[in-house]
Amino acid sequence: MRLIETKPVGDANFYKFSIDFVDDKFIIGGKTLPLGIITHDILNIPADKLLSVFKTGDKLNDLYNRLNAENYSDELFIKIRETILKIIKLIKKIKPFSYFCIKDEYNHVEELFADSKIEMWKRCFASMPIPNINFVPEGTAMYDNVIVLTEFIKSYIYLCSDTFNFYKVAMMYFVNLTENGFRDKVLLAGFTKEFFGSEQVLEWIEELNATEITHNFTLEPGVWMAPVVLKNKDGLTMLGRRIHFDRMLNFYVTDMFEGLAAGHYSWQCGICNKFFFMTTAHKQLYCSTVNPEYSVPCAYVAKNKLNMPKQKKKDGFGHDIWQKRYNSLRNEKSKTKNGLPSAKYDIDVCDKAIELAKRHYDDAQIYFDYAQNQYEQDMILVNLIAEAKSVLGKK
Ligand SMILES: [Zn+2]
Repeated sequence: MRLIETKPVGDANFYKFSIDFVDDKFIIGGKTLPLGIITHDILNIPADKLLSVFKTGDKLNDLYNRLNAENYSDELFIKIRETILKIIKLIKKIKPFSYFCIKDEYNHVEELFADSKIEMWKRCFASMPIPNINFVPEGTAMYDNVIVLTEFIKSYIYLCSDTFNFYKVAMMYFVNLTENGFRDKVLLAGFTKEFFGSEQVLEWIEELNATEITHNFTLEPGVWMAPVVLKNKDGLTMLGRRIHFDRMLNFYVTDMFEGLAAGHYSWQCGICNKFFFMTTAHKQLYCSTVNPEYSVPCAYVAKNKLNMPKQKKKDGFGHDIWQKRYNSLRNEKSKTKNGLPSAKYDIDVCDKAIELAKRHYDDAQIYFDYAQNQYEQDMILVNLIAEAKSVLGKK
């Protein structure tokens, strides 16, 4: 009996992985990362990639159902191999999957599905009265091989659907968190309780579960945990816990809640809408990555938005209309000032109308629709006078 984990590094394969948790960090395949980063990485998977992963996983699920229902065929095994290789190709360079040992994944595919192995499966099934995986006699070597085979396939089905479902839940949670502005441990805890305690959210989560095999999106991961003794980067001995995961979802949920408990969270950038990762309660509002639209970091865009080089006023949209109206309003004002018989408007009405005209001109520089559809109308002299009177409460 083993009471304490002694292997220095846990496994990092999709179908069998164990992660060491120490303080507010975890170790996967020898790499040390902050709690919560897995959830964060999932939030930032490009939407098109995520959809491809989900669809390919669904295809593998169909093949898995065929494996259970049909008798052995080379065609089916080759299709399963191709689909798994397609999934690896899709995910191998994106986080969080790139933290895993991708080389080993290819090795496992070889071990189970190489042409020579398929030849072997074919021979084994040919010797059975019913050549189906569910009729392999227990206690045989082939039975053990079939277990490995099905666990391996299932790990990929889980990976695809769990990532997709978890993404939706995490997205809803962190978008709401950003909107509410909660960013210290106490506020995070209160918000988490309220969010996951809501009937609406619970019902929505229940509806997420698509297929028979990927059922039960759960926030209560059933995991096997053991104490582990590790060395930190300074060579000091540390006691942590090694958690063995049988399914991606369990890892994701553990990462998210352990991360929140440590005060780590993802925050949606107010400029580019991507998520950035925070391990403190500092109130950073914008990410520091380079914004493709401006070629400077979002934080810089935000800081300098008001100070960006201004366009010259005379180059603005509808400047001639503005110039004409400004002149005519000043003319009206001076008629009143000089007590001319043709004077029609009070001084304060003229001043207000000039102020409004300036505001309309500014709006026309920013709002395309306003400039095209409304600006000219608003700048007509009688309309400006009427608007000014209405603002001043005059008849
Ligand atoms: Zn940004």
